[in-house]
Amino acid sequence: MEVRISGTHFPLETLGPGQRLGIWFQGCALACPGCMSRHTWAPEGGTTEEVSGLLRMWEEALGRGAEGLTVSGGEPLDQPEALAGLLAGAARARDRADGGADGGEGGADLLVYTGYEPDELTAARHRALRGADAVITGRFRVARPTRLVWRGSANQRLRPLTARGERRYAPHLARDSAGGRLQVVAQPGPPAGVRVHGVPLRGELRAVEQGLREAGVTLRSPSWRP
Ligand code: SF4
Repeated sequence: MEVRISGTHFPLETLGPGQRLGIWFQGCALACPGCMSRHTWAPEGGTTEEVSGLLRMWEEALGRGAEGLTVSGGEPLDQPEALAGLLAGAARARDRADGGADGGEGGADLLVYTGYEPDELTAARHRALRGADAVITGRFRVARPTRLVWRGSANQRLRPLTARGERRYAPHLARDSAGGRLQVVAQPGPPAGVRVHGVPLRGELRAVEQGLREAGVTLRSPSWRP
């Protein structure tokens, strides 16, 4: 099964607890004003990958101590079959790595970001999320800034979906972030670039640009500019 993605990164440290594998789906029609990831909007952008290849990457990440998988975008629920296949395979690999010894209480968790609101989660979208331990829902609303950890705006909801998700995320539902909201990663070319992972506070992306400029790196077309 194929999936269109924008990119992957390990270790991701700013979108969920611990060190994680991040997979960003390509394509999003929701077009939130102020979105920092406009490069993920075009459905024909990014690259086409096999879900099986992403699962091999996940197994490697587990072997290197990954504490979770974060699927973001773009809009993961716009490729529901691929998302369902990815989550189901990732859960199986996680359970194999755990040896099933923890009864589902420990091990790596699977987190999905979606821009859809809870009342837009149709039966098909719920089915696609079946393997997830937690989901963060809702459009990014630039007028509703928040310090809530892992959320870009105050309307976005973090919801555990399993016992594992409950155990992992309950302490974070109303917790503010304590710094370290962004991770800047150099991307080897071609074309060479910089990826910024995480959810910035207002003005933080300008500060990143400024810091990079001072380090001699000028961003030509930042993904947060229309
Ligand atoms: S913030 Fe998320 S849901 Fe909104 S346009 Fe950007 S990628 Fe899409």
